[in-house]
Amino acid sequence: MHTILVTGGAGFIGSNFIKHFRDKHPTSRILNVDALTYAGNLENVQAFEHDPLYVFRKVDIRDRPAIDELFSLFEIDEVVHFAAESHVDRSILEPELFLSTNILGTQVLLDAAMRHWKRDPDDKNSRDYRDNVCFVHVSTDEVYGSLGETGFFTEETPLAPNSPYSASKAGSDLLVRSYHETYGLPIKITRCSNNYGPYQFPEKLIPLMVHHCMTDQLLPVYGDGGHIRDWLHVQDHCEAIDLVRQKGRVGEVYNIGGHNEKTNLELVRTILQTFDLPNDRIQFVTDRPGHDRRYAIDAKKMQDKLGWVPRYSFEQGIEETIEWYRSHPEWVERIVSGAYKTYYQDIYSS
Ligand code: NAD
Repeated sequence: MHTILVTGGAGFIGSNFIKHFRDKHPTSRILNVDALTYAGNLENVQAFEHDPLYVFRKVDIRDRPAIDELFSLFEIDEVVHFAAESHVDRSILEPELFLSTNILGTQVLLDAAMRHWKRDPDDKNSRDYRDNVCFVHVSTDEVYGSLGETGFFTEETPLAPNSPYSASKAGSDLLVRSYHETYGLPIKITRCSNNYGPYQFPEKLIPLMVHHCMTDQLLPVYGDGGHIRDWLHVQDHCEAIDLVRQKGRVGEVYNIGGHNEKTNLELVRTILQTFDLPNDRIQFVTDRPGHDRRYAIDAKKMQDKLGWVPRYSFEQGIEETIEWYRSHPEWVERIVSGAYKTYYQDIYSS
């Protein structure tokens, strides 16, 4: 049986990926491994609780013996690695956690994959792996640092991360690359722009602003609001990752983006408009230190080599996303109140 290990599958993109993957690959077994940090919410994958080909394990990716045991128990064929500390603001307050999870956690997974996928695990120098195994590392455009007013990040742009978060992601990217160069481990790396869509933790820009609109609070915007991000619907990202894992070339990097640049201010005004609220609900707050000014992805390689283009227009995607949060107030409320944290105990410990 084909088994895919999805790390961080209770988070925003991981849970959307599991939904996408289950639709497209109904006969594969999905092993979702997540430590359920504050960002992990099992309600996001509630739909799979009775799926006989879906397994959840609450495991920290830094726990070497536990990860090793999972590789032995489940005969994993592929890894799609999402698990990470993912919020830039938190990385400024607590960089060590980001280095530990994002770099050392990734190393634990790489080591386990290498050990279990080698045809001869005892041969230290062997580069001979089982057929069709692959480690897909999900990275971010933030590893490239900040752009000026023009230009795009290509796969060849040098890495120049500016926050502890992006530095830890760049570190894990390079580590994944090194396991391919040094040990021949079959890997692929994706670097994607900002995602939006359902199930995003409401500390991130779009769900935060929507929640503030829903609860009659001011909308905090960093600095002058002129920071530019390239927005991609999470469903488009999931399709791109699925394509890379199936058709991408081993050892290569793929940039994924929406050609959809917006300033934070434009985005927040769009959200206010949807709620019929005036722009004076915006509250400018002190800028984040080291705040990258502009990100923009050149996703030409994805289009030329894999035939991928995003399906969502921003107008459709943002409208549907805002509507999703508006029609799931209880989901947002359970996060804001902390009630979502008891879900694991309620379901898995009973
Ligand atoms: P998220 O914070 O919503 O989810 C992260 C998940 O990882 C959570 O479920 C959390 O419980 C889990 N996790 C954290 N530490 C863990 C550990 N030590 N062991 C096991 N599980 C752990 O993040 P997201 O936005 O879904 O991002 C997923 C991945 O995609 C990350 O690697 C991120 O860097 C990357 N990415 C995100 C974006 C974006 O816009 N959100 C864009 C490009 C790339």
